[in-house]
Amino acid sequence: MAQKALIIGAGLAGTCLAHQLLAKGISVKILDQGYNHSSAIAAGMVNPMVFRRMNKSWRLDEFLPEAQQFYLEIEKKLNAKFYHPIVIRRFFSSEQERLLWEERSNEMAYEPYLEKISSADEHNQTANNTFGSGRVKNAFWIDAAGWVQQHTAYFKANGVLLEAQFDSQAWTPSECKYQSESYDFVIFCMGYLQKEEETFAYLPLQQTKGQTLLIESELLPEEESLNRKCFVLPYGQKHFRIGATYEFNNPTLTVTEEGKTFLLETLEALGTYHPKVIDQVAGVRPTVLDRRPLMGMHPNFPGVFIFNGLGTKGYMMAPTLARELAEHITTNKPLNPEINISRFTDKHL
Ligand SMILES: Cc1cc2nc3c(=O)[nH]c(=O)nc-3n(C[C@H](O)[C@H](O)[C@H](O)COP(=O)(O)OP(=O)(O)OC[C@H]3O[C@@H](n4cnc5c(N)ncnc54)[C@H](O)[C@@H]3O)c2cc1C
Repeated sequence: MAQKALIIGAGLAGTCLAHQLLAKGISVKILDQGYNHSSAIAAGMVNPMVFRRMNKSWRLDEFLPEAQQFYLEIEKKLNAKFYHPIVIRRFFSSEQERLLWEERSNEMAYEPYLEKISSADEHNQTANNTFGSGRVKNAFWIDAAGWVQQHTAYFKANGVLLEAQFDSQAWTPSECKYQSESYDFVIFCMGYLQKEEETFAYLPLQQTKGQTLLIESELLPEEESLNRKCFVLPYGQKHFRIGATYEFNNPTLTVTEEGKTFLLETLEALGTYHPKVIDQVAGVRPTVLDRRPLMGMHPNFPGVFIFNGLGTKGYMMAPTLARELAEHITTNKPLNPEINISRFTDKHL
């Protein structure tokens, strides 16, 4: 008989993990309350770079190719379109940043990600341009709302997903039992709401609210994603997403005037584009102070796991991390200590 897993939460973490466990022959059930305030409202951007220090993103060379391949495979599996390659054009905020880009773009390690600055980049006029601009290669965005919607439909149609709230009264962690059904594994993938569920409440998960705007503009370029202070993601037909705010320790879901003003000001700093605001959304990222995910088995309850803390780069990291967790769950392969919750559990015990 196949081993049985119950996943709580059908956001990015839960859906990626479900694919990985199903591929290992595990029988999977997912429970989700039916609304999502992170994976579905995310811009879904995958930017290989951390511009602040002009470094590659953490474990980039592992995460990026696996993510690209994974999303293309899932497109085939679901007969849907999620993956959209995009060039990110970074407008440098200082001469120092430009020099750092020049230096990095001469290194082999950055060759797949940074274009050398051309004279056209130097003088690019799609935004206010004092220090020049550079193009990031191998970036993409995932249609995040589509990802959640299509997965909900797909997993429901296949009898995998049940839409219901997790009932903590019906949960016996010491027996890995939920609503009188025993499971080999129960994996919590509740995003920022994990904080409200007792099993893993001791972990230092933070709730970082983010707001974005959907705008229309005749003046913004549609073939590249502009970046400085904010990102501008082109959707076609003169529509763009502008993001994002970072509002720490804030789990509220209301859009605010302050958020809108802030985003319009960051866009204004890039240039004058006469944006017409069409929509504004808010969501909450599950973040961790050390910027590493929260993964692994509960210290007191064998078979009970968590996959959370995907932070601001969830769409890049989730496919590889889900595979690593699935391997850990099914074969006991050790998790990278940087992501393992034992880094906090050891202090908790
Ligand atoms: C404004 C904004 C912009 C972002 N932009 C990007 C971006 O461009 N690129 C990027 O990589 N990341 C981005 N992110 C971050 C990204 O969205 C997250 O890292 C990722 O989506 C988190 O996924 P998750 O599955 O852990 O959580 P969630 O998406 O929150 O999923 C958790 C699921 O658990 C379910 N759940 C919770 N509690 C219960 C319960 N009691 N019972 C049943 N079900 C429950 C919820 O319904 C939900 O579907 C952004 C986030 C925000 C807010």
